[in-house]
Amino acid sequence: MPLVKSTAIVLRSRKWGDADRIVTCYARSLGKIRGVARGARRQKSRFGAALEPFTVCRLDLFEKPGDSLFRISHVDVTTSFQSLREDLGLMDSAARMVNVVAAITPDGDPDPLLFDTLERGLSSLHQSKDPAYTALLFQIRLLGLTGFRPQTDHCVACGKVQLTGGPQFSPVAGGLVCLVCAARQRVRCVPLSLGSLAFLQQAVRLAPELVTRLRASGQVRSEIEAAIEGYVTVVAGKRLPPVDFLSSARSV
Ligand SMILES: [Zn+2]
Repeated sequence: MPLVKSTAIVLRSRKWGDADRIVTCYARSLGKIRGVARGARRQKSRFGAALEPFTVCRLDLFEKPGDSLFRISHVDVTTSFQSLREDLGLMDSAARMVNVVAAITPDGDPDPLLFDTLERGLSSLHQSKDPAYTALLFQIRLLGLTGFRPQTDHCVACGKVQLTGGPQFSPVAGGLVCLVCAARQRVRCVPLSLGSLAFLQQAVRLAPELVTRLRASGQVRSEIEAAIEGYVTVVAGKRLPPVDFLSSARSV
């Protein structure tokens, strides 16, 4: 059984058997993986609290041929992010971040940029005056990184550029649709005001360090939240780009 070492962020941790824990992590050099920590729930476990969600750690893992489940033999905590587990608002936003990573990334497909984005995202929650908004911007960024960037230039169903009657966001199509195409969607579309459309267009185009300067409040914020929430749910359910128009977004 070869030993593998990687820095990782704990996405999920759940009880397994009498004393063990199964942990889902995003490992910088391995991508999303699952590992079992034997005896992790015993009082004097060598793992301690090192495998709590949001923790950044260095893992020693053993890989068994033909088994996707790693065995975790040692953990060193790099950043515990303890404060994210002590405040309900912070915990909810951090959970949104790790859940979207867990839901839309494939197993064993490492993307160091994605790892760094998640680590920075969790870290930025500390300083954020509005954690829910920080988590929303993170979700938009992650959709872009994983090839699911929302399409905001034209109707993704028929290609029409001039969207008379108000743009609609289709979670299933992953972008704007015109009113005619919106009526044909099997999941209800989110009507967007012009302010929301402008916000979304900027959010998908701006460099990540500039996106945090975008502000959204009131109607714009609630429309963007509804659109992104719906889209993430669709992406998480399908795990693959729903239709071929996303191939253009993927190459960006
Ligand atoms: Zn259309």
